[in-house]
Amino acid sequence: MSVAENFRAIKTELDSLAGNDKILLVAVTKNHGVEIMREAIDAGATDIGENRVQEAAEKFQSLDRQVTRHLIGHLQTNKVKAAVKLFDVIQSVDSEHLAAALDKAAANIGKVQDVLIQVNAARESQKSGVLLEDLDSLIKFVDAAKNLRLRGLMMIAPNFPDVEECRPFFRQMRELFDELKAARENFDFLSMGMTHDYKIAVEEGANVVRVGTAIFGARS
Ligand SMILES: *Cc1c(COP(=O)(O)O)cnc(C)c1O
Repeated sequence: MSVAENFRAIKTELDSLAGNDKILLVAVTKNHGVEIMREAIDAGATDIGENRVQEAAEKFQSLDRQVTRHLIGHLQTNKVKAAVKLFDVIQSVDSEHLAAALDKAAANIGKVQDVLIQVNAARESQKSGVLLEDLDSLIKFVDAAKNLRLRGLMMIAPNFPDVEECRPFFRQMRELFDELKAARENFDFLSMGMTHDYKIAVEEGANVVRVGTAIFGARS
């Protein structure tokens, strides 16, 4: 199947899984060329996800299409200046140190940067993301940052051999999200679910999924 066919099939599936709730499909183009980005956009993708600032910068430079750009990979503070220029949404904020650097970089270009906080719900040592016990203080910090706007939460589930084992983590995130959302404005995005687990993530309440392989095939 072509990129366009894959994209539309997943879109249709998400619409039927979600009922009346809209689910945002972020097409993850990391490790693919800019021509793949164009194909996805022409097939209807409104949102593109990239992992690395440098790789994204090169592709966006030659991208002659409008699209909402998400940074979904770990961000180092020495790349924040470029990141705030390139991305509409930074999904991977996971420390006060990073938030402070982003706030400053956004202020310097007169931007209010949309961000999500990445949560390491399963406490995996090799994963980025804030631990649950540190989430409240990071939220307070981001709230106090004038040039950041907290739009929601992001989570990468553990890579269990049995994908059903992810379900409790998705559910826990959904409960947390609902609790926070009830008391906040502009807090709309619960980003969880990738190729192997997005169906379960959506069943548990994700409203943003980040899908690469199922649209574009395996990465080299
Ligand atoms: C690569 C990546 C994805 C997409 O993964 P697929 O399995 O190819 O769908 C989603 N989220 C993050 C954070 C990623 O790094």
